[in-house]
Amino acid sequence: MPILFDSFSEWGEWCREHGSAPWEAVLSYEMEQRGRSEQEIWDRLDQAFVVMKDAVHTGLEEDMTSVSGMIRNGAKKVRDAKVSVLGENFQKLIYYTLAAKEVNSCMGRIVAAPTAGASGIMPGVLTTIEELHQIPRRTLLEGMLIAAGIALIIERRASISGAVGGCQAETGTAAAMGAGAVVWCLGGDLEMIFESVAITLMNMLGLVCDPVAGLVEVPCVKRNSSASVIAFAAAQIALSGDSAVIPVDEVVDAMGEVGASMELRYKETALGGIANTPTARAIEKKVLVQEAEEVENDLVS
Ligand code: SF4
Repeated sequence: MPILFDSFSEWGEWCREHGSAPWEAVLSYEMEQRGRSEQEIWDRLDQAFVVMKDAVHTGLEEDMTSVSGMIRNGAKKVRDAKVSVLGENFQKLIYYTLAAKEVNSCMGRIVAAPTAGASGIMPGVLTTIEELHQIPRRTLLEGMLIAAGIALIIERRASISGAVGGCQAETGTAAAMGAGAVVWCLGGDLEMIFESVAITLMNMLGLVCDPVAGLVEVPCVKRNSSASVIAFAAAQIALSGDSAVIPVDEVVDAMGEVGASMELRYKETALGGIANTPTARAIEKKVLVQEAEEVENDLVS
């Protein structure tokens, strides 16, 4: 990817023309854009994966209670739940994703892939697939490069920001990245990767950004877990050879169109949706009082 592709079809053409794997285009783009050697890129990807795994472990080992009190160790509760609705692996995907995102909501170290609001999805998806299928580290890192390529094109054609395109742009993009990485790790080809992106985005279309009290906690944390589930559903369908019917570039454009027509109150302003419910408003008031008291205390001391 010596230049940034404007579309998935251009990415596909480049791979076919050069007889390259999809991650190779992203690798060459990263090397050229950032002026880094190939080894540096692999090292940085590896470091990012380590941070993601650390976030999962931190979220499961340390106290994850957010300052607002809205986040209260949800990942551990799912891990320790007596009832497993779909089996151990499904449960694991949920609590790994929650754990990493809770670390973000509690101000811990995460990888914003592609944003902090969606930072539980890639760690949840990658850690689960690595464990479940014993995926070699190199293959996982290739999957991460593919995920980065997916985000670059979505950002260019639509948006990856909740403030611009709603939550579909943020958690939707992260889920699409996760789906593409899973397809690659499990031996899927370029077409299957693109189908998984299209299926994922179709299923997250229209999702609004409505964080309670403007904090990236509710509904964000649990929304990450459902996005991880959609990523696996899309990967499963794409790997079967089934199609999204609508080409991926058209789906991304549809997401851009929906995002552009979304009212401002659904774009991270905390004015609509879940953020505008009576309970959310009461929480918001409490958070504002809490913040005012902190400022007052700082001024006194
Ligand atoms: S609701 Fe908004 S802030 Fe929360 S994860 Fe979605 S896009 Fe990010």
